[in-house]
Amino acid sequence: MSSVDTTIKLIGQGAPGSTCAPGLADEPWTFDSIPGYGPGASQGDVLPASAPRQGVLPDEYQHASIDELDARILSAKETLGDRVVILGHFYQRDEVIKYADIVGDSFQLARAATQRPDAEALVFCGVHFMAETADMLSGDGQAVILPNLAAGCSMADMANIDQVEDCWEQLEELFGTSDDGLAPIIPVTYMNSSAAIKAFCGRNGGIVCTSSNAKTVLEWAFARGRRVLFFPDQHLGRNTAKAMGISVDEMPLWNPNKPLGGNTAPVLQAAKVVLWQGFCSVHKRFTVAQIEQARAAHPGVRVIVHPECPMEVVDAADESGSTDYISKAIDAAPNRTTFAIGTEINLVRRLSNDHPRLTIFCLDPVVCPCSTMYRIHPGYLAWVLERMVAGEIVNQISVPDDVTVPARVALERMLAATP
Ligand code: SF4
Repeated sequence: MSSVDTTIKLIGQGAPGSTCAPGLADEPWTFDSIPGYGPGASQGDVLPASAPRQGVLPDEYQHASIDELDARILSAKETLGDRVVILGHFYQRDEVIKYADIVGDSFQLARAATQRPDAEALVFCGVHFMAETADMLSGDGQAVILPNLAAGCSMADMANIDQVEDCWEQLEELFGTSDDGLAPIIPVTYMNSSAAIKAFCGRNGGIVCTSSNAKTVLEWAFARGRRVLFFPDQHLGRNTAKAMGISVDEMPLWNPNKPLGGNTAPVLQAAKVVLWQGFCSVHKRFTVAQIEQARAAHPGVRVIVHPECPMEVVDAADESGSTDYISKAIDAAPNRTTFAIGTEINLVRRLSNDHPRLTIFCLDPVVCPCSTMYRIHPGYLAWVLERMVAGEIVNQISVPDDVTVPARVALERMLAATP
């Protein structure tokens, strides 16, 4: 399988079939002063006005060679020793992940944040909502640093707190109160959401879920309520609820820009799960046609896709599951198994390199990486580490206490609900 660098160069040359903007191949600081997600996987998404801006990376880091940055990062890490822990998400590029002390998905990294209480700082090589979660779960004196503040998540940004509160008001008015001991509706947010939305769930009897525990969390919610409001990812909500036997007809979509989310009152009354109209720009690119092509080219191929993919793609695959599920399935596979994987390219390529006894390829040969995570370049990592050596914390992500306290309630409900 070709490297991610090769893929990005092809994107830069306008590779046929790629839906990424060619500018993805440019250096990330090209976009430091331009508000937006930058080109690539999220090019069509709208950056909220409140999203943090990175500002321009100092020249010395822009002009340093990769070898020089490597030496500077390793030297700063050595100087800082146990004072700093670098967390790296599975979707992070290799040039950055190689410095991570702990690598995992957003849930594993959130847990890791609780397990290094002696470190002064956690440098989170992921995206903004992950750094927020780490800040809420880490100790009071610990700083969480996001090397590039422009590393947001377009899916998380698709549900803002004002829209969610407006939706909740409409649903509460419509459903009224119930007298059978069950709440009329329970809010469930995917981990990929802002701290403010996790806090909203904590305040309103709700809970957080991940792609690993979404079924368990929905069961928790249905033990306490008649319906679920699931946000921001419609696909994870729909795929999980469908696998639990809930009909697609009982899962209306909520468009935050329309009264009653664009639904009629009877449709919402009959709903089991109200799905927020959000999606992941990376995972929505996978198609049934790609699965058909993989099966034609590799008879016997095992197709696994992430549950953030559209329902028809999950239905056409052999299995669906979180990054953790995909990694474990690959680890356990007999020699010479062939896998077609529908998830972010950096993870798929790494899995392929780590398992030479297997054939592993990405369902989409020119899939865009997660463009926001890709904005963390070694230059930004070197900058935040060297500032810390100099006694300055830059790019700290701090969630206020009035948000942290209720958000932790929703996170702790999730931890308690996990089997
Ligand atoms: S892969 Fe999708 S959901 Fe994950 S951080 Fe990137 S945009 Fe967000």
